[in-house]
Amino acid sequence: MRAAAVAAGAAALTLVAGAAFAQATPKPEDTEQWTPVPPIVTPGPRASDKPDAPPSDAIVLFDGRSLDQWVTTRDKSPARWVVAGGVLVVSKTAGNIETKRRFRNYQLHLEWRVPRNVTGSGQARGNSGVFLASTGPGDAGYELQILDSYNNATYVNGQAASLYKQYPPLVNAMRPPGEWQTYDVVWTAPVFASDGALKSPARVTAFHNGVLVQNDAVLAGETLYIGKPVYRPYADAPIKLQAHGDPSPPLSFRNIWVRELAAP
Ligand code: MG
Repeated sequence: MRAAAVAAGAAALTLVAGAAFAQATPKPEDTEQWTPVPPIVTPGPRASDKPDAPPSDAIVLFDGRSLDQWVTTRDKSPARWVVAGGVLVVSKTAGNIETKRRFRNYQLHLEWRVPRNVTGSGQARGNSGVFLASTGPGDAGYELQILDSYNNATYVNGQAASLYKQYPPLVNAMRPPGEWQTYDVVWTAPVFASDGALKSPARVTAFHNGVLVQNDAVLAGETLYIGKPVYRPYADAPIKLQAHGDPSPPLSFRNIWVRELAAP
């Protein structure tokens, strides 16, 4: 009996130590949400495969011709993704790119296309992303996820049009690979006091192919792969596109523009 009790005690201690260890080292899975799965909404057919022209007061970030407005996030050197045929193709080896300009509150339009020959599954199928504010190198900031979510299950707060690991999209409005997708986003930047304290959180409203997918979502901080979101003070920031390292063929972008907005 005594030996058994000692063994049970040791096992309990191991469990406690294990739990403490698990708390100290968060895993990516800890912040994955798998249910409920957003219902599928089929967007209306496009009248044309051509993009709509930007409104008159838009700042055009990519018009199909040049990457003048963009730099490599890593070292601020000229962006080295591939511009061909009026389209911007991700270069996974060149890494993330971001705008030279910095923004606070804005309306953003961008179009993206998963290649028809996309491969892989889950997060390794057409992964990219638009960081609504790039607050640092790598994937630092606030990511609106880009992914092939057409018949491709993954954690729902990591599927296309999710605010990564914080909000699944309200619905899945994905078009199939090979077709252009649109994002229209209203970004309200977080506001910080002079001592760095959060005065008001970031908010996102977004439409995917014209369908509402984020309705004034209030963020808990930057979107992190591992761990709970946290805020880090910033004033204005570039918009960043993700060169994700998944092995599937690269995505394309076109028709990217932004309209700066006053604070709401
Ligand atoms: Mg991504």
